[in-house]
Amino acid sequence: MKEFEWFTEDHTGDVRLSIKARHLYGEDTPFQRIDFFESATFGKFFTLDGLMMVAERDERHYHEMLVHVPMSVAKDPKKVLIVGGGDGGTLRELVRYPGLERVDLVEIDERVVRLCQQFLPSVASAIDADPRINLLFEDGVRFLKEVPDASYDLILVDSTDPIGPGEGLFSCKFYQDCFRALGPDGILVNQHESPFYETYAQSMRRAHKRLRETFPVSEVYHFHMPTYPSGMWLFGFASKGPRPVQDRCADAPAGTSAMPTRYYSAGMHVGAFALPPYVAALLSEEGGA
Ligand code: SAM
Repeated sequence: MKEFEWFTEDHTGDVRLSIKARHLYGEDTPFQRIDFFESATFGKFFTLDGLMMVAERDERHYHEMLVHVPMSVAKDPKKVLIVGGGDGGTLRELVRYPGLERVDLVEIDERVVRLCQQFLPSVASAIDADPRINLLFEDGVRFLKEVPDASYDLILVDSTDPIGPGEGLFSCKFYQDCFRALGPDGILVNQHESPFYETYAQSMRRAHKRLRETFPVSEVYHFHMPTYPSGMWLFGFASKGPRPVQDRCADAPAGTSAMPTRYYSAGMHVGAFALPPYVAALLSEEGGA
């Protein structure tokens, strides 16, 4: 096995992230290149097409904020859909809710699931471990086209960036299909890119404009993600009615002794929706793409 060397990801044309890491395994799947590394600072991590996906050290920031914000607002959700999320981190956080009856995970690339079970067991721990979970290895865009109306209470789009197989998960048509697939108080949360670097800010604005045109409630929240470009990452919160801060359930378990967390708390939930003025301006009607 190779000695430690540097994993480097280009964040922009003149900004890079480098992590001293040892390459563990790499494979060309039918959809993308997947590589696994181990590092002193971020633990084990994996990349898709050379882009950082999940690192043991900060993955809970992402998976806890993706799951516990909507789960602290949704009224007694029973059926949840995850689009993407093949590493299993979102699943792991969701199955902590005993009231959930079913979680469908639609992941286009089965090799991501199987390899994360092998190299990142702390993240993929819920896969094949909970009878409520259904794994579907297909394109999320096609799946949402065909799924019956009002099939889910919550949809979590835990996707790659809007390039390659992930591109269709940021389209108007996809958001309209998600709207149709959600029940009357349905909530959609999606990976919403980042405001700091121009390329990601353009994707963020485009996604927000499309969600705003599709859902009556459409907000954005931020969290700290050291291994992602600029360290500031966003999720979009769209719904048919419930509002993310005003309608947070006071007795939501996440972040309490009943459901201990590393990053999510009631205070972080509320604070995450307080956006810096420059971000609010980028997301406004005027600033939107
Ligand atoms: N947390 C990561 C991030 O923010 O970039 C993403 C987590 S997960 C690894 C992203 C997953 O989306 C990948 O496993 C990829 O195979 C999957 N994916 C991409 N496009 C897809 C599509 N059209 N349908 C279903 N899954 C898709």
